Amino acid sequence: MQLAKIDEHTSDNMPLNYAVPQGPVLGPVLYTFYTLSITETTKPYSVGYHMYADDTQLYASGAPHRIGKVGINHRLSTNSINEEIFKQASTEYNQALERSGYNTTLQFDKGKEKTITDRTLPPEEPKKRERKITWYNPPYRKIVATKVGKTFLRLINKHFPRNNKLHKIINRNTIKISYSCLPSFKQTILNHNKRLLQKQETENSTPTSTRPCNCRKKNECPLNGKCLTECIVYKATVTQPATNKIDTYVGLTDNSFKTRYNLHKSSFKPEHKKSSTKLSEFIWKLKNNNTYHKIEWQILKKQKSYTSDMKYCTLCLQEKFEILNNAPTLNHRKELFTFCVHKKRHLLSNFAALPI
Ligand SMILES: [Zn+2]
Ligand SMILES: [Zn+2]
Repeated sequence: MQLAKIDEHTSDNMPLNYAVPQGPVLGPVLYTFYTLSITETTKPYSVGYHMYADDTQLYASGAPHRIGKVGINHRLSTNSINEEIFKQASTEYNQALERSGYNTTLQFDKGKEKTITDRTLPPEEPKKRERKITWYNPPYRKIVATKVGKTFLRLINKHFPRNNKLHKIINRNTIKISYSCLPSFKQTILNHNKRLLQKQETENSTPTSTRPCNCRKKNECPLNGKCLTECIVYKATVTQPATNKIDTYVGLTDNSFKTRYNLHKSSFKPEHKKSSTKLSEFIWKLKNNNTYHKIEWQILKKQKSYTSDMKYCTLCLQEKFEILNNAPTLNHRKELFTFCVHKKRHLLSNFAALPI
């Protein structure tokens, strides 16, 4: 039981259901829980508070001339459910006012009459709905190529479909991959730029014919009807039927294969072009020995050559990879260390200065 006493005035006894004993072993956390609701309870009645450690003070203030007529009247009316209760409560206040030299009696403000539910509940604040999100942070290791996060989310879709009992709790809105697993901002910006540049490039470029081959006699096409394919790493196989000797050569082209093929072909004829490639040198050697030979061409891989949004040229890298992988007999080792020729055309020096 608890009561409040001011001078000779005592309040009614109120049952005390919860309390924290002095110096509890559970310490400040339990105490904070216990006293936390004080602030919520007093807020709607504009009663100020000051709490420090286990010391709590409540403040209700007002100018003296307002206390008698408005302040106390308003407060009592708000706290009383009807006029009867107000009268019971106001007796002591009226006496106190009289003692203090005020000649007014407190009047119940009918507008403050409320239903029980209105009075017992403090004014409702708009509900703040917080979505409960579970963040999944997959372990990271550079060596792991599997897209763990993506696979994990796919599993959520698979095992908790709409008709599943747990779908309400476990779904793609409540389970998310932790941000640290998403591409970095840098990567996102780079991807965006890349997309824009690609779009621009395709808009600016003149539409090339979609025909895969322009050979007059289709059966004579060096690439079986694909001679107009662009940006490829190709392989030439030189066979000498007499000795069954096979030699290979790997090359790349940024243009259509047909253009590159014509250049190769032209280097096989006039002698001054003899040393333009390792392949032509070899063919000239065979020619000089009068050795019959056959050349077959094939595409090894189609790749993109250097564009301004890339840091390296995948076409050149692919050629180097194929040289290492296929170990062609006619290529020179130093071809592995050549610089990309495609990068040059993106240099600023290639662009005419803009008129100011
Ligand atoms: Zn063709
Ligand atoms: Zn290149």
